[in-house]
Amino acid sequence: MAANGQKTAKYIFVTGGVTSSLGKGIVASSLAKLLQSRGLSVTIQKFDPYLNVDPGTLNPYEHGECYVTDDGAETDLDLGHYERFLNVRTSQANNVTTGRIYYDVIMRERRGDFLGRTVQVIPHITDELKSKMRLLGETGDYDIVITEIGGCVGDIESLPFLEAVRQLKFELGENDTLVIHLTLIPYLSSAGELKTKPTQHSVRMLQESGIQPDIIVCRTEHPLPQEIRRKIALFCNVQPASVIEAMDASTIYDVPLLMQKERLDQRALYMLDIYDDKDVDMQSWIDFVDRLKNPKSVVKIGLVGKYVELHDAYKSIIESFIHAGAVNECKVQIEWIHSEHLTVENAAEKIGELDGVLVAPGFGERGIDGKIEAVRYARENNIPFFGICLGMQMAVIEYARNVLGWADAHSSEMSQETAHAVINMMEEQKKITDKGGTMRLGSYGCELKKGTLARQIYGQNHISERHRHRYEFNSVYKEDFEKAGMVASGINPDSKLVEIIELPTHPYFIGVQYHPELKSTVEMPHPLFVHFVKAALENARQKYDMGQLLEAQN
Ligand code: GLN
Repeated sequence: MAANGQKTAKYIFVTGGVTSSLGKGIVASSLAKLLQSRGLSVTIQKFDPYLNVDPGTLNPYEHGECYVTDDGAETDLDLGHYERFLNVRTSQANNVTTGRIYYDVIMRERRGDFLGRTVQVIPHITDELKSKMRLLGETGDYDIVITEIGGCVGDIESLPFLEAVRQLKFELGENDTLVIHLTLIPYLSSAGELKTKPTQHSVRMLQESGIQPDIIVCRTEHPLPQEIRRKIALFCNVQPASVIEAMDASTIYDVPLLMQKERLDQRALYMLDIYDDKDVDMQSWIDFVDRLKNPKSVVKIGLVGKYVELHDAYKSIIESFIHAGAVNECKVQIEWIHSEHLTVENAAEKIGELDGVLVAPGFGERGIDGKIEAVRYARENNIPFFGICLGMQMAVIEYARNVLGWADAHSSEMSQETAHAVINMMEEQKKITDKGGTMRLGSYGCELKKGTLARQIYGQNHISERHRHRYEFNSVYKEDFEKAGMVASGINPDSKLVEIIELPTHPYFIGVQYHPELKSTVEMPHPLFVHFVKAALENARQKYDMGQLLEAQN
C-alpha cells in the first residue's frame, strides 16, 4: 500500500487454451474469492475478442444473457459470476471488447489526436488495451486485478490481447504480474489414460506469443496423478506446484473450495511476492454449499421463456434460484417451458402440477401468447407467480384482457393498433433510433408502498434495482388497474414509473419491471427470489396435505 492509503495493484491474467467453455470465469472468480477471503481487495474484468462494442446488441442465443451493471453497462454474463462470488459491484470498466477498443481508437483518430501518424494495431490498439487493462488497478482501490482474456490461445482475434499482456508483463515486472493458463487434460477411455499433449501444444502457442504461463490450471474428469503433474511441469516450463488440478464439479460453487485444496491462491500469492500465511476462512461458503447439496425438499418452478433451449440466456435467474433454494433448504427444480409451445389447451398439463411459475424477460413478439397464458393459468389457479421485466408486462396485459375486459389490450412493442396500450414505450425512448446502449439501463430507485407484499419482502421502503427495457406500464391506466385489484406497489420517485405490480388477493403474485436476478449473490440472496421459492414451497406443502387428506377420505 502506498503512503496515501492508495493500493498498488498487482495483475493476474487468465488465459484459456485447447477449447472454449472450460470455465475461465469460474476459475477466475474462485481465485478472487479465495484472495478476497484473505482480506485482499480484488476485482475481475473480462476482455472479449469480438467486434460488438458491447454484448447489449447480441441475441441471447449467441453468448447467453446480457448482464447489466449498476452504472448501466451491458456486459458479458461472466460479470454476473464475479458479482455472485465476490458480492462486490462491477461496472462499465470491468468488461471491454475489441469493438470498444477499436471504437475508442478510431474516435481519437477522427478527432486528430494522432497528429498525422499512421494508426496501427501495434502500438495503438495494444496501448489502448494496456491502458484499459490497468484502469481499475490505477484507481488505488484494489490489491489485485484479475483479467480474464476471452476466447482461446491461438485464435487470430485474441492476438492483440496476448501481445498487450506480454508487454504489460514486461513493463510491470515478474512480481506484479502473473499469467494463469487454463487447459483441458482429456481422458481417453480406450487407452485408459489422461493426455497432456493438447496442454503442451496450447502452452507452446502461448509461448510463441512471448508469454510463459506461471500457473497451469488443468480441467480434468479424473484426478491428476503426480507423474502427470510432473510431466506437464517439465514440458511447459513451470514448477510442479504450479500445476493445479481442476476436477469437474457438481456445482460451480464447489470450485473455490477445490481451488483452495489445490492451493491455487497460495501459489498465486507466492509468485506475486505477497507474503500471507493466514488460513483462509471459507466457513460461510462451506455452509452455503452444504445447504445447497443437502436440500430437505424440492419445488418445481416453471421458467417460461422463448430462449429455453439455451439455459445461459437465463443464467442469473438460474443462479438466483440456487441462492434462494439454499436459504429455504430446498432444491429448486426448474421446468423449462417454451413460451411458443404453451397454449390455452395445454396450459393445465404444462403448468398445472408446478409449484410456481416465473415468466422471463425478453424482447419482441415471438412466444408472447404463451407467456400471457402462463400468467392467466397461474393467476386463476393461485400458483405463485413471478414476472420479470417482459414477464411483468405480460401480467399487466393479461389482467387488462381477462379482468378489466379489454380484449385488445397489448404492449405497443407488439401492437401499434391497440386502443389499450397498457404497456407503452417510455417517453424518452421515442426519439431514440440507435440500438446499442440506449435502453433504460442500470440502477434506479423505487419507493415501496406501505402495506404491500413488496414492502414486507424487502423490509424497507426505498430500494434500488437494475433495469434494461424500453417499454413501461402506461400510467394513464393506473387507476383502472387499482380499482380492479392490481396494486402498483413500487414506483420510481422521479419518473413515477410503475416498477412493481402485485395482486393482494393471490397467495403470491408479483411482477417487476427491473431485473432482481442481477443482484442476487451467495452472500446476499435476493429477497424476491427467496420469498417466491418460499411461496412455492408453501404451495407444494398444501397440495401434499390436500392429497393426503383426499387419500384418507377415500
Ligand atoms: N421488451 C421489453 C421492453 O423493452 C422488456 C425487456 C426485458 O424483458 N428486458 O420493455
